Order: sequence, then structure tokens, then C-alpha cells
Amino acid sequence: LLHLENISKRYGSVRVLDGIDIAVADNEFLTILGPSGSGKTTILRIIGGFESIDGGRLMFDGRDLAAVPINRRPFNTVFQDYALFHHMSVAENIGYGLKVRGRPKAEIATRVADVLETVGLGAFGARYPAQLSGGQRQRVALARAIICEPRMILLDEPLSALDVDLRAQMQRFLKSLQRRLGIAFVFITHDQEEAIALSDRIVVVNHGRIEQEGAPEQLYRRPRTPFIAAFLGENN
Ligand code: ATP
Repeated sequence: LLHLENISKRYGSVRVLDGIDIAVADNEFLTILGPSGSGKTTILRIIGGFESIDGGRLMFDGRDLAAVPINRRPFNTVFQDYALFHHMSVAENIGYGLKVRGRPKAEIATRVADVLETVGLGAFGARYPAQLSGGQRQRVALARAIICEPRMILLDEPLSALDVDLRAQMQRFLKSLQRRLGIAFVFITHDQEEAIALSDRIVVVNHGRIEQEGAPEQLYRRPRTPFIAAFLGENN
């Protein structure tokens, strides 16, 4: 579905990504896992089109994404802070993407009602973001990402702002949502347990390079480097 080929990125003289190769398959829950500063967010921002690259290619369905502007990319991003519009109701937030695409009002209303049900917020359309809990805001951000029926969504540490209980609940919700929708999720986290619990496949990055990739149990049982062994063995 998506293929990052030999991506490199520098900020000034500092190389933050060095030869990153990642292939995301249809319907896959792929996690990019790594410590703080390893380059995870930069990878996601590059996929989303928010950051330029210094080398390599980004292919989607065999098409080079270089020429595709952010608002035409065939996927959506859920940001760490959810980036909701505070002056708009939940329903307006969710319908915004369809509105700017010029969809008719009646269609927007139907689809907003549908995705509100999908994320379990059927009764919350008229509220404002400030009137919601962290977990509910997160669901609004997810609803906004899925309403345009993308084949993939990008999630940048979406659970990091939540407390432990809510986090576990949202992990189960995310996983079931991904299965129900049958779309690919590219998920970023620095939390090993979260990555192991959610992912079909994990790509571990460290200092802007891929240390190892594979199914969770494969990384856990057969770490290829001391870094992987130490990082996945940590309990936090
Ligand atoms: P975290 O988990 O802390 O968010 P990360 O793995 O997502 O970390 P990135 O945000 O991708 O890491 O950052 C990778 C490296 O690039 C870091 O060393 C960071 O300091 C540097 N960096 C990120 N953005 C910029 C920028 N705009 N200008 C200069 N350096 C940057």
C-alpha cells in the first residue's frame, strides 16, 4: 500500500533519518516504535506531507507521493494533541473535511451521524471539544480521520495524553476499530508494551535508522541487537 524507500532527512547539518525503508500492507496495524528523539514523528510528518525529504521516495499504490499535496493525500493523520477546532461542535469538527471538499449538507449530516456511532459518541454531536473527556476527544479525532474513508490513517502517539486506565480502554478500542474498518493504521509510540499489544508488525527506529522490524513476538524472542533486547525488555 505505502512504501517508504531509502528516506533520508536532515535538519541543517544534523541527519535525523538515514535510509529508512518501510512497507505498509493493506489492513495492517504497523507501529513505529523508538525512544524519544529517534525520528518517529519526523517519519510520520514526512508521510503526511508536512515535511520535505532530502533523499528517497514515498510511494502509495505505486504512485510517487511527491507531487500530491497534503490535502489530496489518500490518508489522514490523528495528531498527539488531536488538533480539534475549539470553536466548532463535535459534529462540525468531524464534518469539516467533507465540507471543504464541497459535499452536500445532507450527505455530511448522514456520514457524521454514522461515524459518531462508529466511535461510540452517538449523543455527543452538539457538544464542544472543551466539554469532552480526553478519551472522547480522541474518539472525535479518530472520527474526523475516518469520515473520508481513507485506506490508511496515521496516528502520532494518540494515547500518550491519557491516564493508564483510559489508555488500556482506548488501546482495545483502536484495535477493534482498525479491524472493523479494515484499513491500515500507522501508529507511533515510544511505549513497548503498547506496541506489542496492538501491532501486526513493529518497526523499531533508533537514531534515525531501523534497528529491526517484525511481528511483536519475533522482536521479543529474537532481538537482533542489544538495543532491541534492552528496549523491549524494559518495563515501564
Ligand atoms: P519524541 O518521541 O520525543 O516525539 P521522535 O522519535 O518522534 O521523538 P522526532 O520528533 O522525529 O523524534 O525528532 C528526531 C530528531 O530530529 C530529534 O533529535 C529532534 O531534536 C530533531 N528535530 C525534530 N524537528 C526538528 C526541527 N524542526 N529542527 C531541528 N531539529 C529537529
